[in-house]
Amino acid sequence: MFGGEAVEKIILHSDANSFFASVEAALDPSLKGKAVAVCGAVEERHGIVLAQSIQARRWGVKTGMTVAEAKKCTPNLTVVKPHYDMYTKYSKALRRIYNDYAFKVEPFGLDECWLDLSTGIKNFKDGVYVAETLREQVKKELDITVSVGVSFNKIFAKLGSDLKKPDAVTLISPQNYKEKVFPLPVNALLGVGRSTAAALKKYGIKTVGALAECNPDFLKQTLGKAGETLWIYANGLESSPVLSEEEHPPVKSVGNGMTPPADLKTADEVHAFILWLSLEVGRRLRECGLLCGGVSLSLRDTALAVKQYQAPLKQATDNGGDIAAAAYRLFAGKAGAPLPLRSLTVTAINLVDIRAPMQIDMFCDNRQTEKRRALNRAVDAVCGRYGQNALLPASLFGKGFALSPSGQSFQR
Ligand SMILES: [Mg+2]
Repeated sequence: MFGGEAVEKIILHSDANSFFASVEAALDPSLKGKAVAVCGAVEERHGIVLAQSIQARRWGVKTGMTVAEAKKCTPNLTVVKPHYDMYTKYSKALRRIYNDYAFKVEPFGLDECWLDLSTGIKNFKDGVYVAETLREQVKKELDITVSVGVSFNKIFAKLGSDLKKPDAVTLISPQNYKEKVFPLPVNALLGVGRSTAAALKKYGIKTVGALAECNPDFLKQTLGKAGETLWIYANGLESSPVLSEEEHPPVKSVGNGMTPPADLKTADEVHAFILWLSLEVGRRLRECGLLCGGVSLSLRDTALAVKQYQAPLKQATDNGGDIAAAAYRLFAGKAGAPLPLRSLTVTAINLVDIRAPMQIDMFCDNRQTEKRRALNRAVDAVCGRYGQNALLPASLFGKGFALSPSGQSFQR
């Protein structure tokens, strides 16, 4: 119970608290302790809340609300514009600090990382000490706070970082996990979204403990492979290693999604937004030396309901324009596609290495493809130097989307 026993693995998960809002307060101390909402299109009534401070959250301000809705929660709400370049800078600074503590640091999004301490540290008492030291160092050096989970697997470490916020450390050990984790709702586990939680609820499974005590065969029958995985998670049996960036397995998908500053009301706006997101997806594919053989589009409406569509491509590509065209066909092909939309995600799927041998489409002009590749390389070089919005197609000129690095995802 005191955490002094030697264990096989000691993993930390560190999660920056209300990351965007905390960075804003670190940059402008007058925002400290206030209810702050980071919003796109501040000047318009219809701007959307992208992130909020802990104080704003206490008043009920939620991500995805309009500014008008958020202001109804509390009249004292301070609304600020996002500074994405600063969030990236702080994200890198966090990672530099983590690298001092662990050989293996695996980022999960912009503001979360797993650290594997197992090589140097053999018991949880020391693991908690490292977590406390790291938490203090982040606060002192960056003026933002983190919550850290300490555990024997990545899933419980992440869950631990959610249990006490802000500026806290939580230990979930083999001795206490049943007491700490089992009473929590199933969606406390990574990978349990709204639909999975609803499916489990149908069978009366509402807590992690109930999930852990299920027959794994029953879960496999009802939820497929995911059911089996969740049973493993709930029982603390997950054992995947913390992977440093060089060790990452090949990327399985490259996605870019975000909430635009205002809801998308027309097909034209959707078209422009899809193109905007897809250009970045193409750039990331080229950076990784990958082509995609399919595209997936996920749409979130103003009631926050999500619909997802996907389709294979005739010819694998790393060109943002082609990805956008395929994604827009998915949108346009669904006559019932809801408008207005609150957010969109374009994801490149069925990825192949650009060097892999592939069938060449006989009806496709390969000279044209080569020319476009050369153009993309030139655009990448300019944007690499002057920022990702330095060169854009004329059709996007004057569109006020703020491209968010937080929406990008790599699925492995
Ligand atoms: Mg966070």
